[in-house]
Amino acid sequence: MPADPRTAVATVCLSGALDDKLAAAATAGFDGVEIFEPDLVASPMSPGEVRLRCADLGLSIDLYQPFRDLDSTDEARLAANHRRAEHKFEVMRALGTDTVLVCSSVGADAVADPDRLAAQLHGLADRAAERGLRLAYEALAWGRHVNTWDASWDVVRRADHPALGLCLDSFHVLSRTSEIDGIADVPGEKIFFLQLADAPVLAMDVLQWSRHHRLFPGQGGFDLSRFLAAVLGAGYRGPLSLEVFNDVFRQADPVRTAADAHRSLLALAEATAARGAGTDPVGGPAPAVEGTAFVEIATGGAEPALDDTLAALGFARTGHHRTKPVDRWEQGSARILVNRSGERSTAVGALAVESADPSAAARRAARLGAPPLPRSRGPAEADLPAVTAPDGTALFFCRPGVDADWAGDFRATGETDEVGAGIGVRAIDHVGLAQPFDHFDEATLFYRAVLGLTPGSAGEFAAPFGLVRSRALADPARRVRLALTVSLLRRGEWAPGVPEPQYVALAVDDVLAAARAAREAGAPLLAMPDNYYDDLAARVDLPADRLAAYRELGVLHDQGPDGAYLQVCTEVLAGRIFVALVQRLGDDDGYGWADAPVRMSAHRRRRLARRAVTPVSPTPPSHPAAAAR
Ligand code: MG
Repeated sequence: MPADPRTAVATVCLSGALDDKLAAAATAGFDGVEIFEPDLVASPMSPGEVRLRCADLGLSIDLYQPFRDLDSTDEARLAANHRRAEHKFEVMRALGTDTVLVCSSVGADAVADPDRLAAQLHGLADRAAERGLRLAYEALAWGRHVNTWDASWDVVRRADHPALGLCLDSFHVLSRTSEIDGIADVPGEKIFFLQLADAPVLAMDVLQWSRHHRLFPGQGGFDLSRFLAAVLGAGYRGPLSLEVFNDVFRQADPVRTAADAHRSLLALAEATAARGAGTDPVGGPAPAVEGTAFVEIATGGAEPALDDTLAALGFARTGHHRTKPVDRWEQGSARILVNRSGERSTAVGALAVESADPSAAARRAARLGAPPLPRSRGPAEADLPAVTAPDGTALFFCRPGVDADWAGDFRATGETDEVGAGIGVRAIDHVGLAQPFDHFDEATLFYRAVLGLTPGSAGEFAAPFGLVRSRALADPARRVRLALTVSLLRRGEWAPGVPEPQYVALAVDDVLAAARAAREAGAPLLAMPDNYYDDLAARVDLPADRLAAYRELGVLHDQGPDGAYLQVCTEVLAGRIFVALVQRLGDDDGYGWADAPVRMSAHRRRRLARRAVTPVSPTPPSHPAAAAR
C-alpha cells in the first residue's frame, strides 16, 4: 500500500442525486467511486456524461454495482441473465470502468452445485473478457447457497478464469464469521475489489442489519484493521472502498458524510499499519492527552444563574480576560471559562485538551480532515491550535499545566479557590455532549481518530421523552473522558426535554460532603424522588445512614461491576447546561447512564416548578403540546 492508500466510496453511501454524491466524494478527497446502479438509473446524465463528470472531478470509476442473481437452474433464465449482463457491459464501457460486482444469488433458482455455478460464472467471465472487463464475485451474507467468503472463493477457484475474481466485503464476511485468517492465503491478484463497512454488534436478521446499520470503519464493533491486514497480507493492492448502507447517512448532508467517510479510511489504514500491514497515511499516533485544560461555556450575554452556581459549587473567579468578556473560574485543576460573547444560545463552546505535543496533535487533526476553527471563535488570545468537532464545539490543543499558553490572556482577580475548599472539586471528570441527530457516529469517529480516544460500547436508555443512545470515549489513562448521547429518533412535536443537553461532571472525593456544602452555599441541586431510593435499597445493600444521606441530598448511585458512580446534579442552567458533582467508588468506569432517566424527570419537574413562579410569556405556544414544556 502506498503512503496514501487509494480511496473510493460507493455512491450508495451518500445522500442526494448522483451529481451531489460525486461532488461530495471529490470534495472529501476520494480518488474514486463505485457507481451504484440505481443512482445511475435515476440520473439525467448518460453514462458517458457521468464518465466526463467524474474525470472533471478527478474521480476514477472503480466499480459498477451490483449485478444480482446471475446463476440459475433454469437455462432460459440464465440466457436472459446473460443478455441483461451484456447491456450492463455496454453501460460499463460508456462509464469507462472495467469491473462489475456480481453478488451471489438469493433466488429460488440459484445454483447449489459449486461446479455448475462455477461453469455459469466462467461463461459470463468469457463474455466480460471479450470486452476487457472483469467480474468481482461477492458472497452476500444472505445468499441462498453462497453466503460466506470461503464459499465464494471456492467457486472462483473452480471457475479458474482470469476475468473472474473476488469482491471481499467486510460486512458480509464479519457478520458471518471472525475466522478470516484464511484470507491471507488467497492469491492477491484474485481479490479484484475490497469493500469496507463497519457495523454495531447486533443480534438481528443479517439483511436488515446490513441495509440499515452499516457504519464507516471505526464507528462500529468490527475488528476492521485485522480484516484489512489479512486482505493486504494476501497481496491486494486495489482501492480501499467504502460500501455503507445507513439510514442516517442516506439523509445527511453528503459533503459532511463524505468527509466523515474519508476520515474513517485514513484512521483504518493507520490502525492497520500499526498491526504491520500497509503504511500509515496519518503520520504517527495521536500524542497522549494529559487532561482537560478547560471547558468554555459560551453564552449570548450575562447568565447570573450560571455565575451564581459556579460560585456556590466552590469555584473562584480567578481571572478576567484582558480583551474579551470571558471569566476564568477555577477549583482544583478544574477550569471553566464563561464566555459572554457567544454567538449562539448557551452551550459548551469549547473543550481544551492538554496534549503532550499540541502542534503534532493539530497536524494530525488536519491530516484527518478536521475543519480548522475560525480564529475569531477562540475564547483566548494565545495562538492555540484548534479544530471544530462535528457538533460545532471548538477543540483546542494546549500544553499541560496552569501556566499553559492560554493562561496569560487573563488578568488575575486575586480570588482563589480556597473559598471552595468545602466542595473539594479536584478536576473535570468528563463532559457530556448531546449530539445532533445526524452526527452521532461521525462524532465517535472524530474523537477516536483525532484525539486517539477509545470508544466504549454503545448503550441505550429509555428517557422520559424518547430513547437515547449513549457512547463514552476516553484515553487509556482516563484523563480525558467524553460522554456522547443522541436521541434515537428525530425529535417530534411532543418534546418537552431539553434539546441536546450538555453537562460538566466535576470529580470530588466525597460526594456527600460536597453536596451538603454546595446546598448550604445555595447551589440549585436537584431533588430525587423517594421511589428511586426505595428501589435503590432493593437493588444495592447500602447502610441505612448512607441511603438516608443520599435521599436527603439527591445523590444518584449507579452500581457498576467494578464500583459505583455517585452524582448530584444542578438544575439546567441557561436553558441547556447542568453541572454534576461525581464520585467514583472502586474502579468504576461508568457514566451513570442507568440513572439518566430519573435525573431527566427531575430536571423536568424543576422546570415546571420554575414556570409556576416565573411570569409566562404572552406569546401563545405554536402547538398545544408546547404549553406543557
Ligand atoms: Mg458489497
